[in-house]
Amino acid sequence: MRTVRDATSLHKAAGVTIDDEQASKHAHELFATRVPQAFLDRVAPGDLNDPLLMQVLPQAQELVKDARSSQDPVGDRDAIKIDGVLHKYQGRVLLVTTGACAIHCRYCFRRHFPYSDSHIGGQRLQAAMNYIKDDSNIEEVILSGGDPLSLSNAQLENITQQLCSIGHLKRLRIHTRVPVVLPDRVDDGLVDWLNRIPLPTSMVIHANHANEIDQQVTSTLHRLYETGTLLFNQSVLLKGINDSVDSLSALSQRLFECRVIPYYLHLLDQVEGAMHFNVDDHTARTLITELRQTLPGYLVPKLVRENPGQKSKTPI
Ligand code: SF4
Repeated sequence: MRTVRDATSLHKAAGVTIDDEQASKHAHELFATRVPQAFLDRVAPGDLNDPLLMQVLPQAQELVKDARSSQDPVGDRDAIKIDGVLHKYQGRVLLVTTGACAIHCRYCFRRHFPYSDSHIGGQRLQAAMNYIKDDSNIEEVILSGGDPLSLSNAQLENITQQLCSIGHLKRLRIHTRVPVVLPDRVDDGLVDWLNRIPLPTSMVIHANHANEIDQQVTSTLHRLYETGTLLFNQSVLLKGINDSVDSLSALSQRLFECRVIPYYLHLLDQVEGAMHFNVDDHTARTLITELRQTLPGYLVPKLVRENPGQKSKTPI
């Protein structure tokens, strides 16, 4: 399937005219454009304010400096124990399985992450496995990235076979945006792989707006649900995209129709180049309070912020 990989092609494909074309190109040079056609198909043509397009369109605002932002807003670099292994929290580690993603979200907290030096590809996999084997306090491994479903089914199988042979692991978690942005990737082989994982497994998908979940995504999520994998969603609260009660409520309800539980609503990780998406704490709290008055509790995600160096996410 086609993937749009530069700013000018994205403007054309979305049918929009940008005031500052040069700035958009410059933003693309700082963080490459990447939008799969399946995602683009859900964008309303010609609408610069489309909530899906805004997530992927390189914009002049990305060039604005903001003293509150940094290149490593959640302290990932301090949490790297060995290449590709982030160990922040009690009992669980995160594996950076790859630097590749199916889509590039402009607000990505890892947009400056040194992927080429820190993922578990090639020779590094064994060292990562040894790190986990040597620490019997680790009960859960999170496959992250980039996006782990950018790997082939054979690569995923190799990783999970090795993990499942480690006696002290009790759970596996997969963080992925692929079922939402590139549902075709969830093929028979991937479903077989999930069916064969012996450890209790959860998958945390990432959708920010109900429009991201079309019929094909719905079918894909139902297919994943049938594997017995527990499905959760995490979103980022994004100015101009989902910062309204109506938008958040529609997303939660759409997710539940697809058998996905809304899990986290993250305040923006204040990464350089993304501050125009920031929603302040007061507005965020007000939204969540109103959402609680609108939906049953199980459809209200936890509003959190990740603060560098802390032992858990911080509820807001
Ligand atoms: S899918 Fe996740 S890791 Fe990849 S660009 Fe988007 S937010 Fe970043």
